[in-house]
Amino acid sequence: MLRYFPYILCLIHAGLLISVIPPITQAQVIKTGPLSCPGVALTFDLCPVRKGTGYDQALIDYLIEQKIPATFFMSGKWMARHEQQVQFLLHVSFFEVGTHGEVHAHLPLHSVEEQKQEILGPVRLLKAKYSHSATLFRPPYGEFNNDTVNVARALGLQFILWNVVSGDPDETITASQIEDHMKRSVRKGSVIVMHANGKGKHTREVVQDLHDHLLPDRNLTPMTINDLLTCKGTAAP
Ligand SMILES: [Zn+2]
Repeated sequence: MLRYFPYILCLIHAGLLISVIPPITQAQVIKTGPLSCPGVALTFDLCPVRKGTGYDQALIDYLIEQKIPATFFMSGKWMARHEQQVQFLLHVSFFEVGTHGEVHAHLPLHSVEEQKQEILGPVRLLKAKYSHSATLFRPPYGEFNNDTVNVARALGLQFILWNVVSGDPDETITASQIEDHMKRSVRKGSVIVMHANGKGKHTREVVQDLHDHLLPDRNLTPMTINDLLTCKGTAAP
């Protein structure tokens, strides 16, 4: 190693070190499941909210009533105000819980150490208070840089984005506009991002439409992220 040191120094000097750092690969930033998998992941972010209950009870009730697998990404700040709900969601066998940063920070604006603390906040809380080992992480706003990916990987977290944006927190769009967008975008392996913090006025309605029409029409099964990644729980395509 030592004999390469002058060479590395030279690269740093030339501003070329970046070229010896492996690029971020698709496997590190996950946007979809296998494209041959007849499943989709319904994912719900639990970002902190300033107003309201911060919890879409009607949506959760519907998911449970219909036994629809779902994945939730919880921010630390949201968890601090929703202890009962965290406990509840963790105990639904077909739900999966990942993390979504501590205060919903814009990660690329922060140093490596600050990013680490933001990512670790809810991971530590889930472990200490709820004995849950989180393995999934979704960056707030979907924003990240190389440091974010490296920190998450070093912490053993899978980096989960999405490939279908519902746009559900946008108050100006209607349920049928979201549903039309879903019809155009949802396919095998899709990861759909929605919200369960009450920000989505039409989220429950859209989920019902997915469950009643779009998914069965296309022979797609809702799955948690982990099941989608291994395409577990469906007949072979
Ligand atoms: Zn968020």
